[in-house]
Amino acid sequence: MKLVRFGPSGREKPGLLLGDNERKDCSAQFQDWNHDFFQNGGLADLRKLAVEAERLPSVPRDVRWGAPVARPFKLLAIGLNYSDHAAEAGLAIPKEPILFQKATSSLCGPYDPILIPPDSEKTDWEVELAVVMARNCRRLKSFADAAAMIAGYAAANDVSERHWQAERGGQWTKGKSSDHFFPLGPWMATADEIADPQNLDMLLEVNGIRRQSGNSSKMIFNVHHIVWYLSQFMTLEAGDVITTGTPPGVGMGMQPPTFLKVGDEVRLTISGLGEQHSRCQAAE
Ligand code: ZN
Repeated sequence: MKLVRFGPSGREKPGLLLGDNERKDCSAQFQDWNHDFFQNGGLADLRKLAVEAERLPSVPRDVRWGAPVARPFKLLAIGLNYSDHAAEAGLAIPKEPILFQKATSSLCGPYDPILIPPDSEKTDWEVELAVVMARNCRRLKSFADAAAMIAGYAAANDVSERHWQAERGGQWTKGKSSDHFFPLGPWMATADEIADPQNLDMLLEVNGIRRQSGNSSKMIFNVHHIVWYLSQFMTLEAGDVITTGTPPGVGMGMQPPTFLKVGDEVRLTISGLGEQHSRCQAAE
């Protein structure tokens, strides 16, 4: 199944995507694709409804696409998880996953603008594979246990302000958390739809020029490892989103370093997870 959400920001309704472009309204049956939905076994109930999804009301084409899952309790992120990206950043390959958090208020839809903060000089792009948690869990015993806790996958852009991230002291969260710094979607594919999450092509273009070309096979720590690992330190909660790192080709690695400007168009795709496009606008 492909889960979508639609409607104005903050008032999205839950839906299913049929084929490439037909959205069906599930709001008569479900409140939202949120923590309670996942934790209470909603995906199994949705599977029953999906059998007859053709009968559901269609969502008009001009209605906004929201992020495919509701604002999570936690938005966790893994840094430097591709060896070739670590090299371009001039940093050592990590021995254990590097964890940081993004403010959950950074979440936005897959076609919403990327908002460049007024004093930003180094807003950068990062195509990433995001994981959505199916159930609350902690201290998982094995990678197989971790696999069973994954509800699905979505494409993400881990937008990053490099000056705030790396030159303002301390930790990375400051540079990762501005509004609209986490476009997610267009859909969440349930885990059964993604035969091998470690063999997905990932592409990102800025103004039609390819900047990132990668494959999730190049992750240092694979998604099951990451979920297992994080669960040793905290309770992962249903609906939490974990973004798993970016392949090479970010702006800070270019010669000279190149960053996003107002008016730039960012397009990204991941195999089986659709295509985002975002126009860069000045934040108010
Ligand atoms: Zn990232």
